[in-house]
Amino acid sequence: MALSNPTTLKHGLSMWCNHQPMNSASSLGGLKMNRVHFQPSFVPSRSFSRRNYVAASSFANENREFVIVGGGNSAGYAARTFVEHGMANGKLCIVSKEAFAPYERPALTKAYLFPLDKKPARLPGFHTCVGSGGERQTPDWYKEQGIETFYEDPVTGIDIEKQTLTTNSGKLLKYGSLIVATGATASRLPDKIGGNLPGVHYIRDVADADSLISSLEKASKVVVVGGGYIGMEVAAATVAWKLDTTIIFPEEHLLQRLFTPSLAQKYEQFYQENGVKIVKGASIKSLEANSDGHVTAVRLDNGSSIEADTVVIGIGAKPAVGPFEKLGLNKNVGGIQVDGQFRTSVPGIFAIGDVSAFPLKMYNRIARVEHVDHARRSAQHCIKALLTANTSTYDYLPYFYSRVFEYEGSPRKIWWQFFGDNVGETVEIGKFDPKVATFWIESGKLKGVLLESGSPEEFQLLPKLARSQPNVDKAKLQSASSVEEALEIARASLQD
Ligand SMILES: Cc1cc2nc3c(=O)[nH]c(=O)nc-3n(C[C@H](O)[C@H](O)[C@H](O)COP(=O)(O)OP(=O)(O)OC[C@H]3O[C@@H](n4cnc5c(N)ncnc54)[C@H](O)[C@@H]3O)c2cc1C
Repeated sequence: MALSNPTTLKHGLSMWCNHQPMNSASSLGGLKMNRVHFQPSFVPSRSFSRRNYVAASSFANENREFVIVGGGNSAGYAARTFVEHGMANGKLCIVSKEAFAPYERPALTKAYLFPLDKKPARLPGFHTCVGSGGERQTPDWYKEQGIETFYEDPVTGIDIEKQTLTTNSGKLLKYGSLIVATGATASRLPDKIGGNLPGVHYIRDVADADSLISSLEKASKVVVVGGGYIGMEVAAATVAWKLDTTIIFPEEHLLQRLFTPSLAQKYEQFYQENGVKIVKGASIKSLEANSDGHVTAVRLDNGSSIEADTVVIGIGAKPAVGPFEKLGLNKNVGGIQVDGQFRTSVPGIFAIGDVSAFPLKMYNRIARVEHVDHARRSAQHCIKALLTANTSTYDYLPYFYSRVFEYEGSPRKIWWQFFGDNVGETVEIGKFDPKVATFWIESGKLKGVLLESGSPEEFQLLPKLARSQPNVDKAKLQSASSVEEALEIARASLQD
């Protein structure tokens, strides 16, 4: 978009601003978006219609210029970016379904689930933006910054023409620019097969994690359903509680979306050595209950059943689109479609984090990424684009990580990072103990790399490799006798 008036963007779209689509569609990374010319903010538009007039006093929010819906990871980082630009005080309002100020959600299946005698994390310890070394934004921080907050009151409706929102409690909110940061919700097993029985848990927020902890205090047999990030993290936690733990999943191995069979085998062995039982290729028929209705077992399609008094389901998540469906969804990946600056098809409305379907420039495809690094970066990019003359396209490098067995006294802390794209052939170096690395190579180029238990310097090399995609000599890489040597070969290929 050619910016004819950068000052306009410094203030975002004013609630009194007329914003007419040019009706021209420009293409970006395969995404067609309407481009908009902005009128200066704060100037009542001549085309403002009396028909739309609602007395300002009818609105529940005092800060109306910018409204963020959602109080999770991306909302917290967006708030920080507003503050950094001096555009929060008296202007920004956050409306959240949760009872807490934004926090670093990944902690919920990591330090939050440490056994109670191993110093588990609790709020306010992990409010955003501590995950990236930033300030701890407690509820007081929002007050001090002049940011208005509404907690435990989800937005249930939007009137795009009037630029208003309605909440579950019946509040009417006004916005100038709107940022949708509603994240995702945990996928559930159907009620008819027992997905809602007492003792069955899903983990998305602090309330869910607290409910799981109160079950774990009484539990003896835990079944974790799902072999992805959540399942692996929960199983690692429940064995630390010394609970009989079984993880079951339909795939052939753990984290099938990313791990190679050989890499997964190393993690599976470590889990088994630490007391986790693994049942692969298993599909659930139903969850059984006793006469009190509490879960007692997980029945599998093959007729067998596994006893359980606590079941944790980690089978993925769905974008929390809620009332924002009308902004335009992406049919393939779900979520609200945005361009490289997180603008939806409606002028003045943006979507960030898990709920956004954005152009992944590096790989020329539309993606929805449910990871905290994207939540943080998309928030920062979107708000900078909104408040400044920055019109650069978001250029995200996929980054995933997990950390397990990190509690005090653990036999070994496990921490891996992955950058890039897991496509092509793989070369694996190392025996897991003490570390292991996997390189993905396609058409001679290094596309992705995963490292377990790297040093800080080694981890810093990974994004450089995945971003540059250097040509690598596969045979030379395969001949490396250690992870360190393999990383040196990869590093040298950056200079070629
Ligand atoms: C248990 C767990 C562990 C994770 N671990 C990792 C990890 O190790 N590494 C990693 O990279 N990523 C991890 N993730 C993913 C990461 O936390 C998410 O990608 C990130 O939180 C997304 O940020 P977000 O702001 O888009 O959504 P969220 O952080 O989910 O925030 C969305 C917020 O919007 C609120 N909301 C929803 N609908 C409405 C509405 N209608 N009105 C008002 N508010 C609404 C929600 O209640 C929530 O507060 C994990 C996620 C979970 C659940």
